[in-house]
Formats: sequence, structure tokens, C-alpha cells
Amino acid sequence: MSAGEVCAPTQDFGDLDGYKGALGGLNRREFLKFCTGVAAALGLSPALGVRIANAATVAARPPVFWLSGQACTGCTETLLRAYHPTVETLILDMISLDYNETLCVGAGHQAEAFKDQSMKKNWGKFVLILDGAVPTKDDGIYCKIAGKTYLESVKSAAEGAAWIIAMGSCASWGGIPSSNPNPTMAKAVSEVLPGKTVVNIPGCPPSPYNLLSTVLYVLTFGKAPELDEKARPKFAYGRLIHDNCERRGHFDAGRFALEFGDEGHRQGWCLYKLGCKGPETYANCPQIGFNDNGEASWPVGCGHPCFGCTEKGVGFNKPIHAMANVVSVSPPTLFPRVAEEKGQGISAGAAALSAGVVGAAVGAGAVLASRLGKAPPKEDFVPSSYQEKPDDHS
Ligand code: SF4
Repeated sequence: MSAGEVCAPTQDFGDLDGYKGALGGLNRREFLKFCTGVAAALGLSPALGVRIANAATVAARPPVFWLSGQACTGCTETLLRAYHPTVETLILDMISLDYNETLCVGAGHQAEAFKDQSMKKNWGKFVLILDGAVPTKDDGIYCKIAGKTYLESVKSAAEGAAWIIAMGSCASWGGIPSSNPNPTMAKAVSEVLPGKTVVNIPGCPPSPYNLLSTVLYVLTFGKAPELDEKARPKFAYGRLIHDNCERRGHFDAGRFALEFGDEGHRQGWCLYKLGCKGPETYANCPQIGFNDNGEASWPVGCGHPCFGCTEKGVGFNKPIHAMANVVSVSPPTLFPRVAEEKGQGISAGAAALSAGVVGAAVGAGAVLASRLGKAPPKEDFVPSSYQEKPDDHS
């Protein structure tokens, strides 16, 4: 498809005027803004927001089946924390979520019978979302649902799926269930489905907007978004956390918290020496956060080191206190370095603010679309006490 074709909307957005669902409280303008944000998050032309909007509002909603194995329900919980659009919009207006054990109104035989019937009817066309690891020891008997092993359910559902998405770190890498000594021989979804294309959306939990953006991309273009070598969508996992972190200015300036609760920790300095895995972990957590709750709603924003849950071999494998490999030692080109001596360069606060702007420009998640109207934070990231007395904690 040429760039011209990609940018050309399939129909005028005015057609959405007839759409009375109001998309969970979003009006026409807000909905288009949301879809434009999704396009930006996917690294596409904003013009494609119209096309995404059209795809999301077609009458025939794609059936989605969500199966859970060795999971903590956190991945479903994160879906419930999606506000732009709300989860009911997602389920009722944008997709047809035909089965999710946690969210199903029906239960037991009734829910299972409906799932089997609906899967059969939509064989070859549905989206299959899997969360949780798959136990494989002793033919998978350590996780059984409705008399069937999860291993069996995953394999049979995968045969009829048009798209398979592994939601969360357990489904993507094996996560906590596969950590040593891995008593159930828990595996990632891709390991039990050799030869199938599985899109990984790792995280513990992942941002619901990374799932939503992926599903909307698939619906709009009929193909998976561009993936990295670990089968993660590049729009969400293409950049290091370290390169977008609001504490990066402190890392570059050598200001580190050395213990939880020490002066550096209270001042909001870099958490690298407390075991932060941001320097070797790819994800958009600093850009989109969680729970639509502003900049503090991700681990580092709350003062806890990133533990690398989106990175295979890092989260759940490397001890939390172990220091990360610094994959890239150079500050990002668009990220102003903080001068260590007074009078040089810009302030660490300005650097942090700049990082937020860069993050919004190059990796804006769907949630950012909801924040477009908001003014940037006014407070300086670094307390003024630091600027007067720059002690080096390194
Ligand atoms: Fe942020 Fe962690 Fe990198 Fe420090 S080491 S800048 S806290 S991601």
C-alpha cells in the first residue's frame, strides 16, 4: 500500500455522526481525538485517525476471546482501568468480547457452552487474547478449566484464531510462574504454539492502551503492527525506559538514591543504584503511565525502581537489587544533558520537562490523546534546595 493510500480515509468522518453509541461518553470530537492519538501512538500519520475511527465503528464487531492460565488477573484488572475509552466502550462498542472468565456475566457450563458455540461460528476470524503462563509439566494438569487443561484450550483455540495476542509478561515470557524453580514447567504462549504468530504485549501488567492500540491496528489494517525481535509492537516497546524517564537528568548528572528513604530518594533522584532496570528495559511506561493518573502512576514515578517486567530475561529473573546493564550510555539526542556544574547547561527540572515533551511527541500513547488539552506541569522536578546545594551522591 502506498503512503498516499495509507493516509486516505476510507470514508468521511462525517459518517460517524450517525454513530449514536457515543463511545462511552466520548463525543464525536473527543472520539476522533482519541483515534488520532492512537494513530500517533502507532507511529502513523494523524490522518489515519479517521480510518481507525471508521474501523472501530463498523457494525460487525470482531469477536474476541480472552483465555487465562497461570495468571493473577492483573492483566484483566488493567483493562478495567482503561478510561479513554472506558472498558464498557471497548467491550460493547468496539469489539465483541465474547469470553473472559473474570468479566463474563455467565459462569460454569453456560459460559463454556457459549464460548464453544461462538468460537465455532467465528472460526478463522476471531482475535484470541491469552494471559498467564501455560503449565506444561505432566501434560499441563496444573491448570485446568472446565475439565480441560489450559494447554489443550490454548492449542485448540489457536487453530481458529486470526490473531493471537499474549497479554502480560506471563503469557509473553513465562513471567512469575516460570521463575526458578518453575515447578509446573510454565512456558510462554509462543513456546507452546510453534509456527504461529503471537504478538507479545508484556508488562506486569501491561498498559491497557498498548493492547487497545494493537487491536485497533489489526482491525484497521488487517495485519499486525511492526514488531521487534521479541514480537513486541515497536510503537510501544521501541524505546528504552531510561531514555524517557523523568529522573534521567539525575542519572546523567550522577545523582543517585542509595537507600530507600535517604536524602537522594526523597529528593527524587535516579534509582539506578537501587536496582532500577530502566536502562535495559524497553517500554513506554514513562510516557503513558497507568490508571490515567498523571506522571506518578508508574513505578519510577512513585519512587520504586523499574524491575524490567517487559524485558525477557530481566523481570522475574534478575534480582531486584542487581544493577542493570546500561544498554545505551549516551543521553538521547533530543534530551538536554544536565550540567553538573552551576551555570552550565539547563536545570535538571527543565531536562525532565523536556523529556516529557519529547516522549509526548515521539511515543504518545492513546492516553496522551486524553491529555492534549492539559497544560504542562508548572513545578520544577528538582526541589530548589538541590539547586542551591548540588551534593554528589555517586
Ligand atoms: Fe530512570 Fe531508572 Fe534510568 Fe534512573 S536508572 S533514569 S530511575 S530509568
